[in-house]
Amino acid sequence: MSLQGKTAVVTGSNSGIGLGVARSFAAAGLNVVLNSYTDDKADHALAEELATAHGVDVRYIQADMSKGKEARALIEKAGACDVLVNNAGIQHVAGIDEFPADKWDAIIAINMSSAFHTTAAALPMMREAGWGRVINIASAHGLTASPYKSAYVAAKHGVVGMTKVVALETAEEPITANAICPGYVMTPLVEEQIPDTMKKYDMDRETAIREVLLTRQPSKEFATTDQLGGTALFLCSDHAAQITGTTISVDGGWTAL
Ligand code: NAD
Repeated sequence: MSLQGKTAVVTGSNSGIGLGVARSFAAAGLNVVLNSYTDDKADHALAEELATAHGVDVRYIQADMSKGKEARALIEKAGACDVLVNNAGIQHVAGIDEFPADKWDAIIAINMSSAFHTTAAALPMMREAGWGRVINIASAHGLTASPYKSAYVAAKHGVVGMTKVVALETAEEPITANAICPGYVMTPLVEEQIPDTMKKYDMDRETAIREVLLTRQPSKEFATTDQLGGTALFLCSDHAAQITGTTISVDGGWTAL
């Protein structure tokens, strides 16, 4: 099945992994819908840059993934959704007894519930088109836990569970649903955790990265957004047609420990 001319919607794609996936898709000839909750000149400029670089149709559609209605509206405004990448995500680090309830709600809404809403809206389009791919960007924290990340770990485990359900509900159709579970990838989301980590463990930046952030990543290297893009592209290929309901770890060996 040629990917040329198919439409991919990538939530949370004006930065980090989502942007890396969008770049890989555009380079492979897919039309792409970029998304975030902002509506800045830079967001639309990014769409133009990708379209010009790869000769594909790239649109930026503003929608806040913390709101179910907006998540569904994103898919409707896209008009087509052959590949859905649920990637939007946020993080907050605190002990469970101090975890702010509004942060819990936001993480569950953005990191997990948005994928329910977008998938519900996209599946009828995939069925109509006779082909589809649902790719959920979960995390190593969808398979294992760390302290101080209760909402994130709960949301990512939820996403992995929902991925399996979508795969079973589409098992006899030419649609697959899988979750990619990255370990640490150097993106703004990780960058934001560095000052807190340095403070919490009283370490300099280099030590905090190696001894705390990458302590569970045996390769001692961050994964790259380009590697994530390549993995998502593989899941869209014919070679991956029988891969459904599973997780693919891109974590330098983290979950092998
Ligand atoms: P990032 O901060 O660079 O990207 C997050 C994206 O989500 C941004 O585009 C942001 O604008 C968007 N976003 C945030 N809130 C939103 C909202 N309410 N509505 C719409 N968009 C919203 O971070 P990232 O590291 O690229 O994270 C992307 C995904 O990958 C997340 O789901 C994250 O949990 C997951 N992940 C990241 C890592 C890592 O090490 N970076 C590891 C495992 C999983």
